[in-house]
Amino acid sequence: MPYVEGKPFGEGPFNALQAALSMAEGYGFSITNYDNYVGTADLNHQERQLDILAHMDVVPAGEGWTVTKPFEPVVKEGKLYGRGTADDKGPAVAALYAMRAVKELGIPLTKNVRLILGTDEECGSSDIRYYYEKEKEAPMTFSPDAEFPVTNTEKGRLEGHFHASFAASEALPRLVKIEAGIKANVVPGKAKAEVEGIELKTLEETAAQVGKATGISFTFEQRPSVTEITAQGAGAHASTPNEGKNALTGLLCLITQLPLAECPQLSLVKSLVKLFPHGDTCGKAIGIDMADELSGSLTLAFSMLAVGAHSLEGVFDSRCPVCATEDNVLKVVREAMAGEGFTLENDSMLPPTM
Ligand SMILES: [Zn+2]
Repeated sequence: MPYVEGKPFGEGPFNALQAALSMAEGYGFSITNYDNYVGTADLNHQERQLDILAHMDVVPAGEGWTVTKPFEPVVKEGKLYGRGTADDKGPAVAALYAMRAVKELGIPLTKNVRLILGTDEECGSSDIRYYYEKEKEAPMTFSPDAEFPVTNTEKGRLEGHFHASFAASEALPRLVKIEAGIKANVVPGKAKAEVEGIELKTLEETAAQVGKATGISFTFEQRPSVTEITAQGAGAHASTPNEGKNALTGLLCLITQLPLAECPQLSLVKSLVKLFPHGDTCGKAIGIDMADELSGSLTLAFSMLAVGAHSLEGVFDSRCPVCATEDNVLKVVREAMAGEGFTLENDSMLPPTM
């Protein structure tokens, strides 16, 4: 989203914030707009005791909408459909209505509650950093942006970025390229590759076997010199990778089963299958499978990969329980990847919060 003067996160978040603030103002709350990064609504003018953090921006609309289009909300059978109804506009409105109920019932209060509406939660929360550069946080804060009733622990995160370069090879049959993934925190539902010098029949036979084993389906499109392979799985949020079917890891299974000529590129792709095998959503193969009672199991989603003639780069998203440290996660991953010829670019990870 290009930066536009006065609309730091583009048109959509800007419009959503304007709409939310005018709603809040309509209910008689005093509002403040922090340069369209964040807007706030105050319950009263007392000393601030509680901040409620919600956000007006949404994740990309994606494909596969059946009940309505992502930005044409409808109510059907008592449910509201549309992008952001659950994350996080619905909860923001619920919080606003809770404040409205307290206000309209005339319940006497000695402290203030402030609803803080952000517009960049999904892309790094620079909105909230901007806000807290100007304002102090209240003694208590909660965010209606997770499961009910309450989450008081958050897993750590390693968004791993890695790369490798290698000598190009023209030997046939060969892998021309791989392109997969849209965001680090999304399990790819679709992944594409191009191969050269392989019969369609061989591709289809191998795809049938791999499809059976992985649950990923494959289609082929023949171009003048190459065949494009599309792997179709099911997308999911990277924090719950077992709810999806990772098209990227499925695609890598297929590619490494094809009778391709040996070359440095192919052996690195085989290493990726070793480190991130299809169906391994807990980092077992790479050596960081761990769990604790408080925050559950580590999860890992191999979410993005671009492979070309002489280099590759990839991203994975790991959510780490409270027992995770840089020693037992970051260091282990770095060494495992280095052992297979990859450079992990991260020098730190986001620690768990509790
Ligand atoms: Zn959210």
